[in-house]
Amino acid sequence: MTDVVVLTDTVGSFTTMRDAFGIDDDSAWSLPFNAFLARTGDAIVLVDTGVGPPGGNERFLTDRAGRLPELLAEAGVQPDEIALVVFTHLHVDHVGWNMQGGAPFFPRARYVAHRGDFESFTTTQAHRPYVRDQLAALHATGRLELIDDGGSPLAGVEIEHVPGHTSGSCIVTIGSVTFVGDLAVHELQLADPGLGYVFEEDRPAAAAARRTWLPRLAARGDLVGIPHLGLGRIRQEGDGFGWVPFAEESAATASN
Ligand SMILES: [Zn+2]
Repeated sequence: MTDVVVLTDTVGSFTTMRDAFGIDDDSAWSLPFNAFLARTGDAIVLVDTGVGPPGGNERFLTDRAGRLPELLAEAGVQPDEIALVVFTHLHVDHVGWNMQGGAPFFPRARYVAHRGDFESFTTTQAHRPYVRDQLAALHATGRLELIDDGGSPLAGVEIEHVPGHTSGSCIVTIGSVTFVGDLAVHELQLADPGLGYVFEEDRPAAAAARRTWLPRLAARGDLVGIPHLGLGRIRQEGDGFGWVPFAEESAATASN
């Protein structure tokens, strides 16, 4: 049994539907930025760390709320109780609470990410404040473990390397719950797995990953965590797939 809590660090918009997905819609795309708390055995695991606190130098979503610490407290968890932080990928909106005041915000946690994103972002985007302060600085503390493939950093936690959205994107399974990262960022990409998103590094690979994983997740019927949708289940709908939010099944804290 896996208990999961959705930690909605913030909700906001940084682009339009047209710019994000190339569709005929100039409205703002408003989306949640979620991390997930999961308990497996005796261990408490965090999947991604949200956008991070308001302010700072990074120009992404400057009006962010940064609620992750208070949501953790509401869940009865202190930062030093997190045993493992595992990343689906290393984009700015998934690593924001890695470091605070130059020290790891989760002081006793192992942090695990795929090497692909770390090497590419610290090479090509080294000037970005978040790459410097949340990725390179964390690595410099010796606390960030970079993996070259999938694996199991902890009993009950499985990581699979699924490049596409980024070169280092991973799907993380904790017990029966699968955290797919930005495999899909909007229900439109479930309905049409071929629909690209502007920030996908490799669009054909991202679409291929959806075509592989969405049928698998729908067949299993277990809970799925998607950072920009929440917690729910994937189901087959016509030629594509639909999203059934867990909130519509019961409460915000899930057992599966
Ligand atoms: Zn994202």
